[in-house]
Amino acid sequence: MNIHEYQGKQVLKGFGAPVAEGVAITSVDQAEAAARALPGPLYVVKSQIHAGGRGKGHFKELTPEARGGVRLARSIEDVVKNAREMLGNTLVTAQTGPAGKQVNRLYIEDGADIDRELYCSLLVDRQYGRIAFVVSTEGGVDIEAVAHNSPEKIQTIVIDPEAGVTDADVSRLNAAFKLDGQAAEDGKSLFPILYGAFVDTDMAMLEVNPLIVMTDGRLRVLDAKVSFDGNAL
Ligand code: GDP
Ligand code: MG
Repeated sequence: MNIHEYQGKQVLKGFGAPVAEGVAITSVDQAEAAARALPGPLYVVKSQIHAGGRGKGHFKELTPEARGGVRLARSIEDVVKNAREMLGNTLVTAQTGPAGKQVNRLYIEDGADIDRELYCSLLVDRQYGRIAFVVSTEGGVDIEAVAHNSPEKIQTIVIDPEAGVTDADVSRLNAAFKLDGQAAEDGKSLFPILYGAFVDTDMAMLEVNPLIVMTDGRLRVLDAKVSFDGNAL
């Protein structure tokens, strides 16, 4: 079972992960109030569909030049204008197939100033029957392309279920992401949080693409794709 990005972030936030403030909306009328509830001046208007690649996607009903399914907005009016263009329309991405998916819900988020985009996923490693972090410094792009073109840029760190995420694992992850200073400090708490959320809620897959380093040096979960085991509650 898959859940939407905003729901995945809610779950992760419950475990203490750093996510942006945001408001989910289903009508243009709600867009203005949602933006007013956020600090600004940068907002993100994000289509909530069960498929990735939204940023690089396009809306069937709009011109080819129109922007994609994840848009930055720099004022409340801009949020409303983008919400009007997106709601009810059909978003086609590399993952939806040609039919696309209708956008019935948007997540309006407080925008982040990004320094670097990283790739961080957790999955059950079939070879070891253990949970593994699969990570790369090349985030915010299609990870399959990275796997194909530069597989050496993807690292797998398998976690011992008895020990959980150890200090040594955190050091390996921080090194794999090339994190230092405040970001590495944030990693010390974030990586065990992601692992704990994965285990406690019986996730089958957790993909944070991108995990970002912000210009202030802090880490933030910018996107979250979560799927659960068939048996999970
Ligand atoms: P996806 O295209 O479905 O994977 O959606 P994402 O949530 O990953 O967003 C796509 C891209 O939009 C990201 O890789 C970022 O480059 C950009 N983006 C999303 N949120 C923000 C934000 O808060 N600030 C900035 N500057 N860019 C963002
Ligand atoms: Mg993404």
